[in-house]
Amino acid sequence: MLVEGRAINISRNQLLADIKRILKRYNLRAFKKYSQNFVIDPKLIAWHIQYSDLNEGDRVVEIGAGLGTLTKYLAEKAEKVYAIEFDSKLIQVLQEELASYNNIEIILGDILKLNSEIFEGTKIISNPPYKISSPLTFKIIQSAYILSVLTYQKEFAERMVAVPGTKKYGRITVGVQYYAKVEYLKPIPKSFFYPMPKVDSALIRLTPIKPPFELDDENDFFDFVRHLFSFRNKSVKRAVSLYLKHHEFTGIPEEKIKQMELTNQRIFRLSLQQFYELYQIIRGLKGI
Ligand code: SAH
Repeated sequence: MLVEGRAINISRNQLLADIKRILKRYNLRAFKKYSQNFVIDPKLIAWHIQYSDLNEGDRVVEIGAGLGTLTKYLAEKAEKVYAIEFDSKLIQVLQEELASYNNIEIILGDILKLNSEIFEGTKIISNPPYKISSPLTFKIIQSAYILSVLTYQKEFAERMVAVPGTKKYGRITVGVQYYAKVEYLKPIPKSFFYPMPKVDSALIRLTPIKPPFELDDENDFFDFVRHLFSFRNKSVKRAVSLYLKHHEFTGIPEEKIKQMELTNQRIFRLSLQQFYELYQIIRGLKGI
């Protein structure tokens, strides 16, 4: 058993002092626009390692390496760490601070622009910038990754694990859960970072699953889901009718929709499977 925070042999004060020392030495300030909030609590580092079951043979991708705090600990456990950072000012810091590790490859780049092959066969472990949570998550879950353990803004994390019929349930939930098993591991207080962000976070683990049903055109399906969620409180009957009008879709008469089993259900109560059933009906793939 891992005693909280003890697996990492450094105190919070020491981590904070290191961050301040590095910022001062390189004459840097944390940039808000790049979501730069650096980890200062050893518990979070320990949890990353524990929940990703990190060991010798592993290859790791870290998104937004920052000042390299987490990077070092990942490199001590794993075979190889690809540390991605898009602020060119931090690249020099990373190169110098991590110079004694020969298994870290520092990559200057925007993770959203890099080819997703970088995730192939890797564990993705990081405190990434929250601004890109949605595109980053979809990029990860559509790649050949092994698992990911990432911090997210609490609000976004709650959306990923929400159940049908609740306020947080939406297209993010449906989209992510189609591709991945989502586990809410730990709430992460904002005090775990310096400078302290405005919002709390949560640690989430994603693992690939075999999708519950096959889609010929994933984009088309998720586009459909997104449209229906823009009428989230409306009944299926009403939402579908609006959808059909908007798309000038004449494939299926409205009378038929009124006879459907789900017709009076509210959109935000539909399960992933029910969205698929509706989709099949509307696309004429399935009779009513
Ligand atoms: N993981 C570090 C730093 C977290 S701050 C730690 O926990 O201490 C997030 C980092 O992501 C910042 O260093 C920021 O410059 C970087 N970043 C922001 N957008 C990025 C993007 N699109 N691609 C790669 N890195 C990005």
